[in-house]
Amino acid sequence: MSIRPTLETRLAQPTMEGAGVHLHRAFGFQDPSELDPFLLFDDFRNDMPAHFEKGFPWHPHRGIETITYVLEGTVDHGDSLGNIGTLGAGDVQWMTAGSGILHQEMPHGNISGQMHGFQLWGNLPAAQKMTAPRYQDVTAEDIPIVIDDDGTRVKVITGNFWGKKGPVDGIAADPQYLDIFVPAGRKKTFKIDTSRRAFAYVFEGAGAFVDASAPSGVLLEKELAGQEVNIRDLSGDRTLVRFGTGDEVIVQSGPEGVRFLLISGAPIDEPVAWHGPIVMNTKEEIRKAMLDLKNGTFIQPKH
Ligand code: FE
Repeated sequence: MSIRPTLETRLAQPTMEGAGVHLHRAFGFQDPSELDPFLLFDDFRNDMPAHFEKGFPWHPHRGIETITYVLEGTVDHGDSLGNIGTLGAGDVQWMTAGSGILHQEMPHGNISGQMHGFQLWGNLPAAQKMTAPRYQDVTAEDIPIVIDDDGTRVKVITGNFWGKKGPVDGIAADPQYLDIFVPAGRKKTFKIDTSRRAFAYVFEGAGAFVDASAPSGVLLEKELAGQEVNIRDLSGDRTLVRFGTGDEVIVQSGPEGVRFLLISGAPIDEPVAWHGPIVMNTKEEIRKAMLDLKNGTFIQPKH
């Protein structure tokens, strides 16, 4: 057993996207190998409708998956394939753009005008970049919730966890996407397969992730003996924690508990050519995508 070290802890940064949506970006448009197979993570929490309701009008995607998880408010979605729908609080849309879609995503506040949700981009390997587009729409009630004896609550959106399997079938990266709440004053261990890249995104309460490469038994003995251990404090919300290699993470919750997403996936380890919402392997493939957009051949005819 080895604890994953926290390689980096950073706050999501204010960013403007779409037609003028104020959001916070935890990562994206930086070194894509850092969190391979994941490319980008945005947090849409906002209490001012004027700052999000212009939304994300028609835009293309190719070569990736976008995963939208709504916590408050709604997101209206429509696309070039004729799909249309609304995501409500607790719902997830896992969109495999594959060879290409054009879509729009329009957020709306709840009754108090508040919007909260996340969008994660997952990369597709070369062999699946031009796969047929696919949607998996999951409503809140279809997401299994596991509650431990100490009150720890885990929503399993995808992957296997504590005997439950999330309703989303991951394509290539075999992702595990968990929404975790650990009540006040608990120390909790979560196992993550060693082969995966992993990060946490803390968005409610506060806590700390134990940062040590020592075996956990040794660490706990040290703590019991009152020796100093390295614990990263996560004060404040909207915090990204990037983990190194190991097979578990340990979180210590603060006085109000801590809520975070714990996301991991198998690295794809291929070259990345990235142009806005289109992510391919080579510049030539990006040029082809731009040409397809220009010529009206971006959307592949249905077979
Ligand atoms: Fe989009």
